[in-house]
Amino acid sequence: MDLVFSEEALQYRSAGHPESPERVKVAYQYLQDKYETTSPEEATYDDLLTVHEKPFVEKVKNKTFMDPDCPKYDNLFHHALLSAGGGITAQQTDNLSLMRPPGHHAGKDFLGGFCYFNNLAIAVKKSGVKTLVVDFDAHHGNGTQDIFLGDDQVVYISLHRSPAFPGTGTETIENAINFPISPSTGDRKYMEVLRGALDKIDVSNFEQLALSAGFDGHKADPLASVGLSTGVYKEIGSLLAGLNLPAFGVLEGGYVGEDLGRNIDSFLSGFNES
Ligand SMILES: [Zn+2]
Repeated sequence: MDLVFSEEALQYRSAGHPESPERVKVAYQYLQDKYETTSPEEATYDDLLTVHEKPFVEKVKNKTFMDPDCPKYDNLFHHALLSAGGGITAQQTDNLSLMRPPGHHAGKDFLGGFCYFNNLAIAVKKSGVKTLVVDFDAHHGNGTQDIFLGDDQVVYISLHRSPAFPGTGTETIENAINFPISPSTGDRKYMEVLRGALDKIDVSNFEQLALSAGFDGHKADPLASVGLSTGVYKEIGSLLAGLNLPAFGVLEGGYVGEDLGRNIDSFLSGFNES
């Protein structure tokens, strides 16, 4: 697994916002000599409509929404399409997209938590294959759950800090298997929960693995730490690679650039060694 990225992802900002270009810039500088990079292309309007309702897409396009966590950036629609395209390219090349904005809080007809369109869900829908989604961002992917709830092509597994934003995922519903965990979880307990979750899955039911790769569970993260070390991301990568499914990922959270680069590297080294 290598990277999908374009410097265009660094070209929008909102002063003081934690989902900053610097977080990804610093991370990519750390990673760029160690991994190959493929450039993304914009997703199409029709790609968005496989997941999102048209009035909602128009709202984002015309910036007629209101959410304090989701600034109305210059060229927002272009950046959101390019990030969704990053997910599609990642799916097609078995790579990890580092494009921003992130996506797992965006549902069929809502945005939130720094997310506008659901990059992972758009890529999964376009692929058309049975997919196991594992969301290891430290927030619950309420948007991804909203999109895939009751969909017999997809199972969604999420480990996330609770209580925390967005307040969902406190229990398992249908095909959304949720594991709320405490801020003091730490490496050992986290791996126990993740292993336990994957043990219950019959991998032969799936044709691919889609990862909401968030690194804000790291112990130094200001937003949603669950006490994880950099080293544990290698174990997570190794465990997920052991499922032996074609896999791709999209970056979600992780808000300290230096740590983000090291944590992604740790994850990829574990994944690629296995
Ligand atoms: Zn997060």
